[in-house]
Amino acid sequence: MKKAHIDPFFAVLSERNPEPKSELEYTNVYTLLVAVVLSAQATDVGVNKATKALFEKVANPQQMIDLGEGQLKDHIKTIGLFNTKAKNVIKLSQMLMDEHEGEVPQSREALEKLPGVGRKTANVVLNVFFGEPTIAVDTHIFRVSNRTGLAPGKTVLDVEKKLLKVVPEQWQLHAHHWLILHGRYICKARKPDCGACPVIEYCAFKGKI
Ligand code: SF4
Repeated sequence: MKKAHIDPFFAVLSERNPEPKSELEYTNVYTLLVAVVLSAQATDVGVNKATKALFEKVANPQQMIDLGEGQLKDHIKTIGLFNTKAKNVIKLSQMLMDEHEGEVPQSREALEKLPGVGRKTANVVLNVFFGEPTIAVDTHIFRVSNRTGLAPGKTVLDVEKKLLKVVPEQWQLHAHHWLILHGRYICKARKPDCGACPVIEYCAFKGKI
């Protein structure tokens, strides 16, 4: 993508959706963290279905520990990898109690030490709840960044670093959501809907139609 096209690319996405929100449902920063951990290799819709009843019962790490791994599994058994995810959620809740007085830390380093929390999950929590201009590169952002030529890269970390370099400061806070939503609904994996694409004139994809 031409450098001069990056600003208008985001300006158009911003105009269409000035305050983009995560499609994951949560009630506070702790339940956001849990929802993001559960969403690995699962859809937001699937996670929301499973967490609706869970988050009516559980709002903090101590309540999750009290609920226990068995009951947690019952709530989330429709989500892929639920056994491992349940173990991680209980362990991370215990770690929050032991090391952070039950609070979710606002630090990448501390977040990434929690079981089941990698760079992507930490980025989502820092961006969505703490309002930091991080960009969590998921499958949609990886594809859109490469396909449009916005921030091509071989690995998610390459793409993340490139995005942080090329996305103008004024768009950094919401870039994460705009790119995810664009990839989820328009620039889809198998067949991008170029006919309905609002940023077609800025996209450098050779196969755009
Ligand atoms: S023109 Fe097509 S390939 Fe380019 S961003 Fe839009 S949907 Fe994706």
